[in-house]
Order: sequence, then C-alpha cells, then structure tokens
Amino acid sequence: MISEKMKFYGNAPSVIRELFEYGKMRAGIVGAQNVCDYSLGNPSVPAPAFVNEAIRDIINTMHSKAVHGYTSGAGDNGCRQAIAEDLNQRFGTCYSKDNIYMVNGAATAITCCFKALTIDETSEFIAIAPYFPEYDVFSGISGAKLRSVSADIPDFQIRFDELESAINGNTQGIIINSPNNPSGGVLWEETIERLAGLLTEKSAEYGHPIYIISDEPYRELVYDGYEVPFIPKYYKDTLVGYSYSKSLSLPGERIGYVLVPDGMTDGTDNVFFAVAGAGRALGAVCAPSLMQRVIERCAQQHVMPDLEPYIENRKLLCEGLKAMGYEYCDPRGTFYLFLKAPNGDSEKFAEMAKARDVIIVPGEVFHCPGYLRLSYCVDRETIEKSLPRFAELMKEAKQ
Ligand code: PLP
Repeated sequence: MISEKMKFYGNAPSVIRELFEYGKMRAGIVGAQNVCDYSLGNPSVPAPAFVNEAIRDIINTMHSKAVHGYTSGAGDNGCRQAIAEDLNQRFGTCYSKDNIYMVNGAATAITCCFKALTIDETSEFIAIAPYFPEYDVFSGISGAKLRSVSADIPDFQIRFDELESAINGNTQGIIINSPNNPSGGVLWEETIERLAGLLTEKSAEYGHPIYIISDEPYRELVYDGYEVPFIPKYYKDTLVGYSYSKSLSLPGERIGYVLVPDGMTDGTDNVFFAVAGAGRALGAVCAPSLMQRVIERCAQQHVMPDLEPYIENRKLLCEGLKAMGYEYCDPRGTFYLFLKAPNGDSEKFAEMAKARDVIIVPGEVFHCPGYLRLSYCVDRETIEKSLPRFAELMKEAKQ
C-alpha cells in the first residue's frame, strides 16, 4: 500500500509546469525565438557577481569539511548570526542566531511553519486568494485544512469581512505573501495594522495565538519606492519564511530561513523548537553548507538584487498593454503582472494566447479566475515580440 495523499501530490498536474513544458515543446517546433513564454518565475537577472566570487573564494580557501560537511541542524552559527545582524540593521530589531532556522528555500520554510503550528487534523490555516498554489500541498502535508478567502480586488488587499468570518477556534494561522505572487501587489501598512488588530482580538477570543506566516521570497523585489512593512513589528506572533531564490537569483541552490522573532505568546524558544522539530521531521536539517557560507558573506555585505532589468520589463509590458486597453493589478513588486482577462474568461484567454505561442497562466491556478499571470522575468525581445500578439488577442477577445 502507498499513501494515496502523497500519490495525489506527486501526480497532480502543476498547470504552471505543464505550460512551461508546452512552451519548450513549441520552441522545438517553431523555434525558441518565436515562443513568448511568461509561465515560470525563474529569475532572468543573473545572481550578483559577488555571489559567484564568494563561491569561488570559499571553495579555494576553506577546508572541505567547512564547505561541504554537515552544519548544525538549525544551520551554521556564523550564517545565522550574519542574517540576524542584517535584519537588525534594516529593521531596527535585536535578533541573534537563535531567531534564525536555515532551510532549503521558502517552500521548506513555509512547510516547516505549517507543520510547527498544526496540532491535529482539526487545525486550520487561511490563505488570501490569489495565492501560490503550493500552499495547498505545504499545509496538506501537515494534515491541516487550508481555507481560502478572497482578496479585495482591484487593490489586492485583504477582504476583512470574509477573513473575519473564516476565523474560528481551530484557526492556527493566516499565510500572507507580500509582495505577492501572482498579483505583484504589496499589502499596505494600514492593511497590516488592521490584520494585526483583528488577529489580536480573535486570539483573545479563542484563547490561543493566531499566527501570521509571512512568506517573503520577494521582499526586496519592490519598485517605485514602495515600502514593504516588516510584519513582526506589527504583530508579535509572526513567523517569517524567507528565501534567496528570487532576491539573489538562486532558486536552484535551495537556501532560505525561518525567522522566529522574540516575544511570542507561546514563547519564542518553544516556537523555535516546534519549527526545528518540523524541520527534523521533514529532513530539512543542515541546509546546503556551501550556500550557508555564501549567504553569511552576502548578509555581511548587505548584497541586494539588481532590479533594473525587471523595472525596464515592467515598464515596457505595462505601457504596451495599457495602451491596448488591458487592465491589471498595479505591479508594485515581484516580477509578475496580473492581467484582467478582457473576455472575462481567463482559461479561454490563456488558450487563445497559447494558440499564438504566448504562454500565460490562468488565474484559476491561484484560486482567482478572471485574471492571468505573466512572469516578466524574461528577456526584452520576448516582450517586444509578444506585444503585437496581445493586440491581436484584445481584438479577438472583443469579437
Ligand atoms: N512562495 C512563493 C509565493 C513563491 O512564489 C515561491 C516560488 O516561486 C515559493 C514560495 C518557493 O520558493 P523557493 O524556491 O525559495 O522554495
């Protein structure tokens, strides 16, 4: 016998991956230069030169065991301390290594958070749709139920009336993701303050903390001077899942962390142990050692992403589409544009686009029909080539 649930997760199609594979298949037939593939969020900006220099230097100068050997389960102390100090400088906090648990990217960070906070099969979490579809798997693996409430469209903030009615005595946490995949939106400070107020009230009503799990792989990918509020400053029972996949363009290196802030209602040490226990149970101990060394150096040097290529792409795409009459969520962060389907039917529109070798993801994948996600982490030529096709699509959608 096998676990039917795991079989389902392993076999359930990922629409995004399928679209990506379809794009590759079409590239083989019509030539890669003729396919405009906006399916995957794979950073197009190279990892900063500093990262590659650090890798070379570490390999050339450090002992093999220090580079490739096991670190402590929670991660190397030097790496964790460097991350804590970087956060302290940026957000005025007083963290130390004891607040940081190293993991393999945001996927593992969020899975550890769900698992750490799941008491039994009655435990529930709430996600704000549109949301990253893997949350269904990350929470499901812990045995918890994930409820979905809709965002306040077109601003893509939180619909507090829906959220309030979704919270009950079994609610263990709310997962938020700002800057957001897929909408590109950023939660405003007043939204976070209102969320913190509601959760404080509900935690008191139900006699246990309702956590915020803040999924932040896009924290630094924000434009036009927008500030991304640092959630633990607004709400003490916050776990942050962070990843260097997007900010330092290292998605294949699988490195990130969970931040367990001080002053949590359940006791920071207890929550940290629960996260560490979840990590241990999932085999998520001793995150990749070489990458921990690299991140230690990057954190000490405050290495930031080069956003210029994304800013240029965003401008080209947004201006081009706006001139054709397309509507979209104001993309303040990430490298995603969430476009309103001009015919009101996102699945049909995605099919129409596919027929023109423009690969875009229907909003149904993110529990938000009527919209389409475009990952604009592509080269400029892809956008230039796609714009006339979007013009044709607009005409077709209006027929
Ligand atoms: N959370 C969100 C919102 C994402 O978009 C992604 C990846 O695209 C992840 C988590 C997983 O990130 P990682 O590759 O660091 O595991």
